[in-house]
Amino acid sequence: MAKGKQIYEGKAKILYEGPEKGTLIQYFKDDATAFNNKKKAIIDGKGVLNNRISEFLLSQLNQIGIKTHFIKRLNMREQLIKSLEIIPIEVVIRNIAAGTFSNRLGISEGTDLSKPILEFYYKNDELGDPLVNEEHILALNWATQSELMHISEQALRINDFLVGLFRGIGIKLVDFKLEFGRQWNGDEVEIFLADEISPDTCRLWDVKDERKLDKDRFRRDLGGLVEAYQEVARRLGIMPEGSNIKEIKTGVSKNLTALKKK
Ligand code: UDP
Repeated sequence: MAKGKQIYEGKAKILYEGPEKGTLIQYFKDDATAFNNKKKAIIDGKGVLNNRISEFLLSQLNQIGIKTHFIKRLNMREQLIKSLEIIPIEVVIRNIAAGTFSNRLGISEGTDLSKPILEFYYKNDELGDPLVNEEHILALNWATQSELMHISEQALRINDFLVGLFRGIGIKLVDFKLEFGRQWNGDEVEIFLADEISPDTCRLWDVKDERKLDKDRFRRDLGGLVEAYQEVARRLGIMPEGSNIKEIKTGVSKNLTALKKK
């Protein structure tokens, strides 16, 4: 599928104009960043795994009636998505204390929360994505009251579903981040889940030994990031085409290589 011009480059993905109006192509890079871009690396194969894992999770969510921007996966690194007006809020859902939550409140990592906690962050790299509350979002017109209610309901439904899905494959969903966007149909607005859900945007711990299967392997210099993401894909039953680490790393499938040789 022919890509249009590049319209945005983020830390882990690039967006190109799509083949039809209202569509975009989302390209998953191998770049890893943490601590607001202060720590950077290229990790061969990460983009391929995130593309496949996010495709799977968003498709599952589509099936339970959550509207998402995902249309279809195009190849090992790209997917076709709906073009949306992104709401400048990162929604974090927490089931177990970890990361900035533990640091901010002095709650040890791994403490179970008696109910899921929803947090909102203002999506702004220059400011380091500050924590905000509903009042900020409404007063600054980042979203309306009804949009915010809808987003919160959807986030909790997504959490319920994903906690169960991961639990079924021996993984605890500790916390994760969601983004949403709007599509205008005349005066009517429809909200869709956007961005990605992958081990880059979730904390995933093995149920038995709490081994980290997510981006904390990079943030905390634990090593073995691609192997951990591969483990998540394997347990989800979706290892990318060929299931061969070399192919995952290059992002070229057997079929494509075979075609090129002809
Ligand atoms: N998260 C994310 N992007 C961000 C910030 C957080 O995907 O810009 C995810 C992160 O991977 C974790 C959850 O949201 O699963 C909560 O992150 P936290 O606030 O603890 O911050 P972090 O430790 O990631 O800086």
